[in-house]
Amino acid sequence: MTAGRIPAELVTVIASGVFGLFVGSFLNVVIYRTPLGLSIARPRSFCTSCERQLTWWENVPVVSWLALRGRCRSCSAAVSPRYPMVELATGVVFTLVTWANHGSFRTAPFCSLAAGMLAVALIEYEGHRAPLGVAGAATGLAMVLFGIDAALTHRWWALGTPLLGALAGMVAIVVLRVADPTCEDHRGHGRTALLLAACWFGGLSGRPALAGVATWIVAYFAGMTATALTARRRVVAGGSGTRSSPEIPVVFTTPLVSALIAAMAVSLVAGA
Ligand SMILES: [Zn+2]
Repeated sequence: MTAGRIPAELVTVIASGVFGLFVGSFLNVVIYRTPLGLSIARPRSFCTSCERQLTWWENVPVVSWLALRGRCRSCSAAVSPRYPMVELATGVVFTLVTWANHGSFRTAPFCSLAAGMLAVALIEYEGHRAPLGVAGAATGLAMVLFGIDAALTHRWWALGTPLLGALAGMVAIVVLRVADPTCEDHRGHGRTALLLAACWFGGLSGRPALAGVATWIVAYFAGMTATALTARRRVVAGGSGTRSSPEIPVVFTTPLVSALIAAMAVSLVAGA
C-alpha cells in the first residue's frame, strides 16, 4: 500500500459500512412497525410521542440523534438510544461482512441476510414475534443478489446451494410449526431466523459452513442449558418461577437466535 493511494477494497468496506448505517435506520422502522402490523412504506418516520413527521435532517443515522441530544425537536420527548445503536450495529455488521468477502459483489446477499437477522433478533428482543415476511423479504432479496453474483462470475452452482439452504430452512420452520403448533410463547419467536441462517450457510464454502454449523450446535445446547438452569434457580428461590417471560436474561434473545447469530459470526471469520 503506497501513500496517497487508497486501495479500492478499503473504499468499498467503508462505503458499505456507511450504507449499513442507513439500512439500520430502515431496520428501526421494520423493528417498530412490522410486529404491530403497520406499513413500513407509509407514513414517513414520525416522533412516537407527538406524532410529528421528521424532516430529512432529523433522520440522518446516528448524527441526528447526537445533534438533537436524544430528544424530539418539538415535544422534547426522549428518543431511545436504541435507534442510533441499531444503526451503528448495522454499519459495523456491513463493514465486517464486506471485509470478510474482500469487497466483492458476493458481499451484497450476505449483507441482506445479516440485516434480516438483526431485524428478527431485535423484534424478538422487544418481546414480539417476528413476522415471517421479515425473514422472507431479506432471503428473497439475498437470492436475487446471489443470482446477480452467479451471472457476473458465471458460476451458477453458487446460486444452487443458497437456494437449497433457504428451502431447507423453510422446511425446518414448517416441521417445527406442525410438531409444536401450541408454541405461542417466546420459544417460538425466532424460528423464522432459520430461513435466513440456512440460506447464509448455503452460500458459504465448506470450511466456514462447517465452522458455523459446529458453533451453532455448541452454542444452542449451551444456551438451552443456561436457560434451564436460570428457570430452575428461580423456582428453587421461590420467586416468580411460574412466569413465562422474561426468563432468559443470560442470552441476547432465545437460545435458537443467539446460537444462529454466533454461528454466522464464526463462519464470517472462518471464511475471511
Ligand atoms: Zn415529538
